[in-house]
Amino acid sequence: MTDVADARAFAAEAPWKVPGQERAAKVLAAAAAGGLGHAWALIGPPGVGQEQLAAALTAALVCAEGAPGQACGRCAACDRAARGRHPARRVFEPSAPTYRVEEVRRDWLSAASLTADGWKILHIREADRLNDAAANAFLRALEEPAHGTVWLLEIADPDELPDTILSRCRQLPLAPLPRQLLEEHAAALGYHDPVERALAVRAARGSRARLEALGEADLERLRARQRLLAELRADQGRALTATKELLDAGEAASKDADEEQRTEREQLVAVHGEPPPEPLVKELEERAKRRKREARLTALQRALDDLLGWVRDVLATQAAAPSTALLAPEARAELAADAEALATDDLLWAADRIQRTREDLERNVVPRLALEALLLELATLGRR
Ligand SMILES: [Zn+2]
Repeated sequence: MTDVADARAFAAEAPWKVPGQERAAKVLAAAAAGGLGHAWALIGPPGVGQEQLAAALTAALVCAEGAPGQACGRCAACDRAARGRHPARRVFEPSAPTYRVEEVRRDWLSAASLTADGWKILHIREADRLNDAAANAFLRALEEPAHGTVWLLEIADPDELPDTILSRCRQLPLAPLPRQLLEEHAAALGYHDPVERALAVRAARGSRARLEALGEADLERLRARQRLLAELRADQGRALTATKELLDAGEAASKDADEEQRTEREQLVAVHGEPPPEPLVKELEERAKRRKREARLTALQRALDDLLGWVRDVLATQAAAPSTALLAPEARAELAADAEALATDDLLWAADRIQRTREDLERNVVPRLALEALLLELATLGRR
């Protein structure tokens, strides 16, 4: 997560100016001025403006000078809110891979039940990392909202949370950040080479937090996917090694769930002793299994999305589309080579085939077989 403790989240004259989230800011600002409700689900990729929105909302509620529900942007309360230092807003982050029930009871619920004058903004980062027991404990707070309390839940993947929680929140979708904005962030992070910068922006998939967390391996994976059609053309055997690489990427993505399971088991031991009660261990194992499967699936689908994006760029290149219409404008030369080697019909067929494989993966086909079949077929394209 971005550390914004010492940076002002908004400019004095415009608290609600949240770059890339203009629509969401408008909705939240209007609600702050009247009919705020007691829980909001901020749904979107991590690091796309959640912090600024939360700071602006806090200022709007605590400002001593502006009209009710509006921040003046100049008073001391606004200043503290903008720096993330106003005591009305409490921020909670998971201390382990998932939030635990003790954490929810000890920290969140007790903060909500504190009697205080004025507003309490309880801001939960990565709220989709509640485990089931913790989610149940939290539900009570949503069902019986305390006066003056507003929950802000940051949620990247709504499927991870029980519907009972989501249905009690106003849902505010946050957009992925536009390319232009990420370009600027990337430049500030030291991506000076335009080709590298464009690649990083694409790998960040609309999220500033992801951009900041990128490693060389992430960039190389994306490069490899861009080379794939050409490599398959040159060597049919590449289909098999590429399948293995995709599966390995899926395995790597599921490693987090392993670590999560280990940490959670240690927590169970700490609370219940060794060995922890069988039903709890079983629940933990099932959740870990599900998360592993989902992490693996997401990684594979993302790989297919990258490939599909590339195929569409090749088609756009054939149609002489302008650079601005391309996902990978920096890879003009490689796109041109694929556009030259492949027939439009073949590319359309490939796009459809990739899309269908993506859907098949969701239907629990064996990933290795589905990917191998796809890549072997793609390897037949453009061969002379
Ligand atoms: Zn103010």
